[in-house]
Amino acid sequence: MPIRADIAVAGGRIVALGPRLNGDEEIDVSGSTLIPGLIDSHVHLTMSDLDTMVGLHRPFSYPFYQAISNMSATLDCGITTVRDAGGADLGIQQAVDDGLVEGPRMQIAISMISQTGGHGDGWMPSGFSIGHQIAHPGRPSGLVDGPDEMRRKVRELVRAGAQVIKVCTSGGVLSPRDDPRHAHFRTDELDVLVAEATAAGCGVMTHSQSTDGIKNSVRAGIRSIEHGIYLDSEAISMMIDAGTWLVPTLLAPQAVLNAVDAGANIPAASVRKALAVIEAHMDSFSRAVAAGVKVAMGTDTGVGPHGSNLDELPLMKAGGMTPQQVLAAATSSAAELLGMSDEIGTLAVGKRADLVIVGGDLFDLPKLKGNISAVYKDGTRVRG
Ligand SMILES: [Zn+2]
Repeated sequence: MPIRADIAVAGGRIVALGPRLNGDEEIDVSGSTLIPGLIDSHVHLTMSDLDTMVGLHRPFSYPFYQAISNMSATLDCGITTVRDAGGADLGIQQAVDDGLVEGPRMQIAISMISQTGGHGDGWMPSGFSIGHQIAHPGRPSGLVDGPDEMRRKVRELVRAGAQVIKVCTSGGVLSPRDDPRHAHFRTDELDVLVAEATAAGCGVMTHSQSTDGIKNSVRAGIRSIEHGIYLDSEAISMMIDAGTWLVPTLLAPQAVLNAVDAGANIPAASVRKALAVIEAHMDSFSRAVAAGVKVAMGTDTGVGPHGSNLDELPLMKAGGMTPQQVLAAATSSAAELLGMSDEIGTLAVGKRADLVIVGGDLFDLPKLKGNISAVYKDGTRVRG
């Protein structure tokens, strides 16, 4: 719950918190609420259009420039940290860190590891390959089969700068040639993946929609289940026992349907799958919340428009979380998932001064974005 206090910031960090603090420069925010910078645990900063034909005709480097406006739209939401689940490479991260372009702090996966015929395989029946993420020197192909290739791929991604490893342990919606109800990768491949990632100090996040794929992932020790569309009660209790996180991305299937309504050219199979998963997705999420699964906010933005990230929050509330729980999922819980609790996620002395100033009722989630009057990242005002 909010308390009445001043916050003193120096050197990009919170140095004091309490009543009647002094400083060289004072900003009066009385009547507003200060919250920590928000964290989106699942974005794709280099993805902007779902339309297959639009993507095909864009020059190779165009998505990197689109990422600049995507990152800006993310800051508009008060989101100062993201986990990029595939697409952003080390160059984008470094450009933000060096102040060359403005954007949120990020943890990057670079490429999605996928089996042949899996969610990250862009192969089309015509023989052309039109994946959403073209491989390049900074972003290796994520396609692997077998434990040996898996070992090499994780090492290759770590070499390229990945700080989290993303794997697809089931089919998905936007990949027309697979089924979200099927498990991808076998135990031997997932065990190698987790061992190599762990050795490199990286957590593993998995695109996982199928019940079996989710269970295989939990057994392998993967840290977070992304989407989690088909959760049965066994999967939920396995996640609770193992402490596995759920990043629901409730916006994603709806975003696919919205894009179709707006005229985007999306394969018919993907549209069918988006329609098929929506109900199961919300039902699984509600049961997971009721059972006490750890939840971190993530949106899969890039599937939907960048800047619409906070539309996820009312959906999480509709799934049974209180507004307080929803905001915790987008701050302290997400920081814990990212392994960054020492740095971000709460307002506490010593943490980075990522601050969002919110007018009106903080817990009116549909209005949150419009109520944001200023955003600070590392003590520097980036909005307002
Ligand atoms: Zn995603």
